[in-house]
Amino acid sequence: MVQISDLTKTYRTEDEGDKTALENVNLTIDRGDIYGIIGLSGAGKSTLVRCINGLEGYDAGSIKVRGQEVKDLDHSGMRDLRQRTGMIFQHFNLMPSRTLVGNVELPLHNSTMSRRQRTSRAMELLDLVGLGELSEAYPGELSGGQQQRVAIARALANHPDILLSDEATSALDPNTTKSILGLLEQLHHDLGLTIVMITHEMSVVRQICNKIAVIDQGTIVEQGRVFDVFAKP
Ligand code: ADP
Ligand code: ADP
Repeated sequence: MVQISDLTKTYRTEDEGDKTALENVNLTIDRGDIYGIIGLSGAGKSTLVRCINGLEGYDAGSIKVRGQEVKDLDHSGMRDLRQRTGMIFQHFNLMPSRTLVGNVELPLHNSTMSRRQRTSRAMELLDLVGLGELSEAYPGELSGGQQQRVAIARALANHPDILLSDEATSALDPNTTKSILGLLEQLHHDLGLTIVMITHEMSVVRQICNKIAVIDQGTIVEQGRVFDVFAKP
């Protein structure tokens, strides 16, 4: 699904000079994986996911998503990549002035769907995450866990087969985290989603991931099946 070979990414800044955020990263994410990318703040995790969905370029090496080299994609290829790659974030990034249904249908505005079709798809997604009855509420009226459910619904609007999660449970308490991870597990199972979970919390990896890569200062220091990695002495 995602094949990364010898990836190197350097940020060039005026004041701080060059900063190598990723160096010689090799990673294969198979269809159906729930792949945990774990590391401290500044390790390069966000840079890695931003490279995967084309938000950030890279200097050397290769990233193939569904067999296609990301840096070779043209405009429409890039749009297709982003539509088929859902993203969720730590702070949900919902639009406060729009209702829940209004938020979830946002990614559908570039499609050929009619207004009625968009609303109907958004309602279906809100039902899927258990918030159908709150469709006319505003994000500010919801708890953090409910807001993350809305963000998940929005991420799924264009039927992605990959979901990139960047610290999606980091702002949530342990019980809410558990319920969000439960929802992701259910979506993984029901929709056949491949999930990439960026996190600094080992408990998240233990709860939901089948594979793990540990990243430290831009390089992968350990990777493999969660079962094997944790079994090491
Ligand atoms: P993480 O997600 O693991 O916290 P990041 O990928 O955000 O790590 O950052 C990796 C390194 O790259 C850090 O040293 C960070 O300061 C640096 N970095 C990230 N984004 C930029 C940027 N836009 N410009 C310059 N340096 C950056
Ligand atoms: P996170 O670890 O949650 O990704 P960061 O504070 O590392 O948060 O980054 C927040 C934003 O700031 C990102 O868009 C990142 O690209 C940018 N950024 C991080 N470090 C730098 C840096 N040294 N110079 C410029 N931009 C940076």
